[in-house]
This record gives sequence, structure tokens and C-alpha cells, in this order.
Amino acid sequence: PETNSSQSIKIVASKPLGTRLYSGEAKKCTLIPGDGIGPEISAAVQKIFAAANVPIEWESVDVTPVRGPDGKFGIPQAAIDSVNRNKIGLKGPLMTPVGKGHRSLNLALRKEFNLYANVRPCRSLEGYKTLYDDVDVVTIRENTEGEYSGIEHEIVDGVVQSIKLITEEASMRVAEFAFQYAIENKRKKVTAVHKANIMRMSDGLFLRCCREMAKKYPDVKFEEKYLDTVCLNMVQDPSLYDVLVMPNLYGDILSDMCAGLVGGLGLTPSGNIGLNGALFESVHGTAPDIAGQDKANPTALLLSAVMMLRHMQLNSYADVIERSCFETIKEAKYLTGDLGGKAKCSEFTNEICDKISRTS
Ligand code: NAD
Repeated sequence: PETNSSQSIKIVASKPLGTRLYSGEAKKCTLIPGDGIGPEISAAVQKIFAAANVPIEWESVDVTPVRGPDGKFGIPQAAIDSVNRNKIGLKGPLMTPVGKGHRSLNLALRKEFNLYANVRPCRSLEGYKTLYDDVDVVTIRENTEGEYSGIEHEIVDGVVQSIKLITEEASMRVAEFAFQYAIENKRKKVTAVHKANIMRMSDGLFLRCCREMAKKYPDVKFEEKYLDTVCLNMVQDPSLYDVLVMPNLYGDILSDMCAGLVGGLGLTPSGNIGLNGALFESVHGTAPDIAGQDKANPTALLLSAVMMLRHMQLNSYADVIERSCFETIKEAKYLTGDLGGKAKCSEFTNEICDKISRTS
């Protein structure tokens, strides 16, 4: 597509990536249990971490919105201070009021800590039957701007404008993150997902940044695909893709589609990586329909916590926990309702703990 190629892009000097932020020394992690099923699945993760003797200390914080000096509701200062101190945290889902009330706290956390890359690995689980058994894709979503910039206003009665903001700086850093991620995780290809044929300037800029960054990484294959093509291909042959990088809204939607291909939201983890810290969270929401009933599947939050351990270079603990979780799913004796089983969250959790105790 024509993408305003007269504007040239300079590659800005590489800043240290979020992935390298963590020195592996600090042992405290912020825990935001969240709303709905959040407290139940957070407790499950804490129990499993205790069974595996993971050498970290949880610092649990409440993020119930508080009214600031400007009269607006936002994240309590104690929660912000905790993430700033620890630089790393695990977060349960947070309820967002629709159309009114306080702004999304998830968005506020991303902005506060400049969590610019949202990483969502989606891999088929052995023993759990889905349409395909060879899904292994990672979506990397620009997390700070795009369609979710929150710049909206009513121009006249009945006409509302919502601004999609794309900057060279944010596009460059997420593109760099994607290529670095590919190298560090021995991935072969990065696909830039866009609609630059329609949004020539905004997606055009994003795409040009990806192209420029690709030149710095000749060992990683680079390709460009329209969002609609990727959606079509993904449900027909997901093995076509490896690492995908894209603007905010596309990543939000496409990553849920990938989650659907491997068994649903109860299974997919994510990491929000930034320059000021990293927050790991399950992709699903607060599941109000099953909250407080010991029915939730804690896998997504547990696998997010496993990503967190790898970020902290505590790989051996991550491996033991991940293996025990996958084995429990493969054996299919203690599956939760979302996976077609009858087990309670606590039974599934206890089985993982038993497996960990037997292996250590
Ligand atoms: P949801 O993900 O909460 O639920 C969708 C369906 O999936 C429900 O049937 C639910 O029971 C099921 N489900 C989700 N997680 C599950 C789990 N771990 N185990 C078993 N079943 C599970 O989506 P929703 O209903 O659209 O959203 C509810 C609330 O969550 C909203 O307020 C929304 O804003 C919020 N939300 C928060 C986040 C986040 O904090 N990152 C993400 C998405 C939605």
C-alpha cells in the first residue's frame, strides 16, 4: 500500500528493553488480586507458588479506585508505589464500568507504568482437543496508544470523534520489542499486522517503523499482512504465523481469537512489559457469572505468573510449575467447567500442588 513513504524514519538509539529490566535480585512481587474471580485464582497461584517453594514474597495491594485531588477516580497511590518499588507484579482481572463511571484501571496501569508491549503467547496444549493441535503464535500488541488513547469528544450533539494516535516513538519501541522477543525466544518470523491500505497515515507510520526495525534484524524473517487476511488465515491454518506485532485495538481482538483456537480465555496468559516495570495478567475478565463459586480455571493467571518467573530469570521454578499444570490438563481428571470437566478450582489447584510435591 501507499504509505506516505516520503517521510523518512530514523531508528532511534536502542533503549534497554523491558525484558532486561529485571536484574533477578529483588524478591518482592506486587499482587493485584482484582475483582470477580480474581481473588480465587490469585489464591490458587499463591498456593501453587508455595508448593514449589518459589523464592518470592507477595505484596498484595488493593486497587479499588480512589478520588484524586482533581475529583477524578484513579489507582490508589499505595498500589502505584508498590509497582514502582518492585518493578514487577501479577494482576487479576479488574471490572471496567461500561460507558460511565471511572476509566479503565487496566488502561490507567498501562499508562502509569508505560507498559508499552502486551505479549500474549498462545500454544496448543497437549491432550486438550481443539480444532488445531499446532497453534504456536505470540501476539505483541502496542499497548499505550492507537485506538485506545482515550481521546474522545462530542463535536456536536449526535457526533462523537475518537482519535487513533500513532507515534513513531511508540511504534519503533514495540517493533524493536517484537524482534528482540523473536531472537530471545528462538522464533523465526515477525509479521506486522496493519490496515495501511485504509489508514494510510497512522497504520502507514506503524508499518514503516516495523520495516525499518526489520533491517536491524536480518536473521528474523519479516512480512506484512492486512489484519483481515491474518484473521482469515488464522482460523484456516494458524501454523502460518509465528510472532505478530500490531497496533493496540487489532492486538486486543486478534489475541482473543488466538486464545479461542487453543481452548479459550481460561488458558491464555499475558505480560505487559514496559520501561518502568512489568505486569503479568490473565487475558480473561472478572467472569462475574462464576465468581465466588470455586469454578474458575486458574490456568491463565498461573501461566501469566510462569511468564513472570521467566522474566525474573527464575526459570527452573517456572518449568516445574508449567509442567505440572500441563500434565494436570493432559490427564483430564481434574478439569474445570470451561474445559468440559467438573472439578472445582481448588481441586485443580491441589492436583497441581501434589504433582509439584511429587517431582521435587
Ligand atoms: P470475561 O472474560 O470475564 O468472561 C467471559 C466468559 O468466559 C464468561 O462466561 C466467564 O465465565 C468465562 N471465563 C473467563 N475467565 C474464566 C476462567 N478463568 N475460568 C472459567 N471461565 C472463565 O469477560 P466479560 O464477561 O466480557 O467481562 C467481565 C468484566 O471483566 C468486565 O467488567 C470487563 O471490563 C472486565 N475485563 C477485565 C479484563 C482485565 O482486567 N484484563 C479483561 C477483560 C475483561
